[in-house]
Amino acid sequence: MRGETLFISDLHLDERRPAITRLFLRFLEKDAPESDALYILGDLFEAWLGDDDLSEHNLSVIHGLNKLHAADTPVYILHGNRDFLLGNDFTLRTGSRLLQDPCVIDLYGTPTLVMHGDTLCSEDKNYLEFRRQVRTSEWERDFLAKPLETRRQIAEGLRQMSQQETSQKPSEIMDVTQATVEQVMRKFHVSQLIHGHTHRPGIHEFSIDHQDVKRIVLGDWYEQGSVLHYGPATCRLESMPPEQA
Ligand code: MN
Repeated sequence: MRGETLFISDLHLDERRPAITRLFLRFLEKDAPESDALYILGDLFEAWLGDDDLSEHNLSVIHGLNKLHAADTPVYILHGNRDFLLGNDFTLRTGSRLLQDPCVIDLYGTPTLVMHGDTLCSEDKNYLEFRRQVRTSEWERDFLAKPLETRRQIAEGLRQMSQQETSQKPSEIMDVTQATVEQVMRKFHVSQLIHGHTHRPGIHEFSIDHQDVKRIVLGDWYEQGSVLHYGPATCRLESMPPEQA
């Protein structure tokens, strides 16, 4: 409803999981137009090979986002670790606005830091090193210059490597580091942080320098939809079951 802002992340949309894409398209059509704004905090797609990958699946998502934009609901997007190649053409086609990660937004009077969340997992040194290598304009230019099919093969290889590595990492490494959370919240002078990435939805209240602060973690969309409804008097994580086929 108006008077509420919606936050989602980690949908990992993939044509191999059509029920989740259908759930998202229904959410864009039914729930999102009623809200003040929609924030997508990264990993909307399982992989984004470049804005020229206009598969039928990707076009259906672009079309859904554009309809929401045309209905006067602003859509803001952050890059995730899977879809950091979302670029200008994508934002033009969807009418969405790409935000820097991290970014401070004014949420009904509360300055709130929004991030994807991968940089908060600061114990995962291997990943951060990989991130440093691929998030440069040179790497992006080289990658995007390759034929789409080659990019697809590279992405699939990286995905398998990451799955294998993830299964071997202790679970603490896969979560945020509290000291890093506090550091970034201090740096941006905020009492509220919203992020995704860890797939551990929850609302954590603690204090930094005797000030009460809040860290809200969004859920993933592997088995269901997960949406944060945030308003002046609302802060609620809701899950949505996929439609039974
Ligand atoms: Mn992620």
